[in-house]
Amino acid sequence: MNILVINTGSSSLKYQLLDMDEHVLLASGVMERIGETQGVLTHKNFSKGKEHKTKKELPIQNHQEAMHLMAGLITKKIDAVGHRVVQGGEAFQSATLINEDVKNAVQKNNPLAPLHNPPNLIGIQLAEDLFPGKPQVAVFDTNFHQTMPEKAYLYALPYEYYTSYKIRRYGFHGTSHKYVANKTAQLMGKKPEEVNLITLHLGNGCSICAVKKGECQDTSMGMTPLAGVMMGTRSGDLDPAIFGYLMNNTGMTQLEIDEVLNKKSGLKGICGLNDLRDIHEKSAQGDKLAKLAVEMFAYQIKKYIGAYAAVLGHVDGLVFTAGVGENDEIVRAKALTDMSVFGIELDLDKNDIRSPEPRTIHGANSRLQVWVVPTNEELQIATETCQVLKKTI
Ligand code: ADP
Repeated sequence: MNILVINTGSSSLKYQLLDMDEHVLLASGVMERIGETQGVLTHKNFSKGKEHKTKKELPIQNHQEAMHLMAGLITKKIDAVGHRVVQGGEAFQSATLINEDVKNAVQKNNPLAPLHNPPNLIGIQLAEDLFPGKPQVAVFDTNFHQTMPEKAYLYALPYEYYTSYKIRRYGFHGTSHKYVANKTAQLMGKKPEEVNLITLHLGNGCSICAVKKGECQDTSMGMTPLAGVMMGTRSGDLDPAIFGYLMNNTGMTQLEIDEVLNKKSGLKGICGLNDLRDIHEKSAQGDKLAKLAVEMFAYQIKKYIGAYAAVLGHVDGLVFTAGVGENDEIVRAKALTDMSVFGIELDLDKNDIRSPEPRTIHGANSRLQVWVVPTNEELQIATETCQVLKKTI
């Protein structure tokens, strides 16, 4: 069965076509800067181990045009479509076959994810028009975190804010956390329900998750993806009083402060750069703020590991994933320095090895296993899409 996985952003469309019987990638692509004067289309078809790449700069007026371009470039049949949807709220505990009720529920969650859910919904509607009769499945970023207990997902606000406004921790990157947690258990020779893991999705956006016997117990992102550890451009956790203080003392509007917290904070806020490759380069040249940004980032990751070790009681392993987690040995080493109290000891030589393969980086005396496992959200979405179709069709 060939599953087309679609991830529609506000100005982008990412997709992959996967053959789930043969376990091969058939096509993948990205369309960027949709709606701007000049867009970029990158498409790859894979056949018999060979890659055929198309890259074009052209105006892509809207998502409809992007989807038509995609459909024209894909040469293989499509049996079903799996959609990444960011915010499922409390309505969805798992991936779901899309019907009118599901679309209405996604729309209802728009206020909770105003930047993400509306384009996700557009992607669903366009795919329905483009591939009539093909089943469509929604896989929500929030699904995996729905197992969190009340004590972990509630904020200490008046309780009616939860009941009336749905203010609570939802967590994000769930598809990635689930994928690497299951994959790591498998690599350890165990079932997901036999291990407790702390999964660290560290990319431009970062989130950390305490996974007990395959189920999320707590996660660092909150009602929105702004919370938790500092990120490329997002602040992460703050004293909530800072928001009002900034409004009262700087003359910035709520929208302007939102923009600062989402786009001008985190690593970028401290040192002016958000890509750690650039930050390390600047740091090596002696830039104090670049050094400080890395120290702060690693320190915050370390604090979450300590907190989640306490939440889990017993931890079998840590799993690093995503752009930084998979590639940045400096951040991993700094975050895991002096952690022997938790039974964590890194093998610095293993940590320094770059590889696209899953691997361990802990020392011989480490009680906990430390893994680097490349994430594959598209494969997870395709897998869950197949599971839903097997159950419902
Ligand atoms: P997202 O999907 O959240 O946009 P990614 O998971 O692709 O982000 O991660 C992007 C980030 O990963 C970059 O901003 C950079 O900081 C980091 N990164 C990617 N490759 C490397 C590398 N080789 N070394 C260090 N950091 C890297």
